[in-house]
Amino acid sequence: MIGTKKNRVITVANQKGGVGKTTTAINLATALAAIGERVLIIDLDPQGNASTGLGISRKDRAHSSFDLLMGTHSVSQTVLKTVVPNLYIIPSTMDLLGIEMEIGQASDRAFRLRRAISGDEALEYSYILVDCPPSFNLLTINAMAAAHSVLVPLQCEFFALEGLSQLLETVNEVRQSLNPQLDIQGIVLTMFDSRNNLAQQVVSDVRTHLGDKVYHTLIPRNVRVSEAPSYGKPAILYDLKCAGSQAYLQLASEVIQRERQRKAAA
Ligand code: ADP
Ligand code: MG
Repeated sequence: MIGTKKNRVITVANQKGGVGKTTTAINLATALAAIGERVLIIDLDPQGNASTGLGISRKDRAHSSFDLLMGTHSVSQTVLKTVVPNLYIIPSTMDLLGIEMEIGQASDRAFRLRRAISGDEALEYSYILVDCPPSFNLLTINAMAAAHSVLVPLQCEFFALEGLSQLLETVNEVRQSLNPQLDIQGIVLTMFDSRNNLAQQVVSDVRTHLGDKVYHTLIPRNVRVSEAPSYGKPAILYDLKCAGSQAYLQLASEVIQRERQRKAAA
């Protein structure tokens, strides 16, 4: 049972592309690693942006999250070190595009990731962050079925709330059918531009609707954050002082603080 484990498996999901899932996975993971947590990112997007953004070249991806879902390789056989101490990654490859063909008919198709991380190997990491593709497909379902919680990056734009209700509905469905313990870890507002009145409005709407599920930290739109992946580095390593990096450090401390509260309440 995942409930008895001491690690925390957090799926970073939003069916929209370009909202900051991968950026949040990489930089939150880096910030958690920097404060001494041992962190694993599982890249479940065939695009492999989390892998590339952490400096893992395609030729180094001999084994990947595809092999993990196929059940042919374990966590320790697929995991790689990153440029960040304490941060590890199971990279993805384009093979993931064929996963429905490979396991779509299997009765345990939704539980492949959960099974892969249910052993002792996964307990070596205090946090496991799963970076999802921008859709509700079998990969995202595997990620939600394996997780304790879902972290939702939400871009500060007009249609943000609309997409969010769809996402929360999906989380509810997964909770009812596959994973009763699945919780919302939190909602993080990304690419915030303080000069944009609409963005301010979106922030206040989201806070009104979702209250304390929304993190206080706002991730600003910041060019240094968008440059970092092309150097194969998290923003926090590329430019620690920039506003985006500082915001992700602040987000990590909020996440840790909430974890403490959650554990104390349990
Ligand atoms: P997703 O994984 O949801 O598709 P990404 O994290 O890849 O989204 O972000 C989409 C694009 O926006 C990327 O080019 C990324 O570098 C950029 N980006 C993400 N967060 C920020 C930010 N805070 N400021 C500026 N650019 C950002
Ligand atoms: Mg992504």
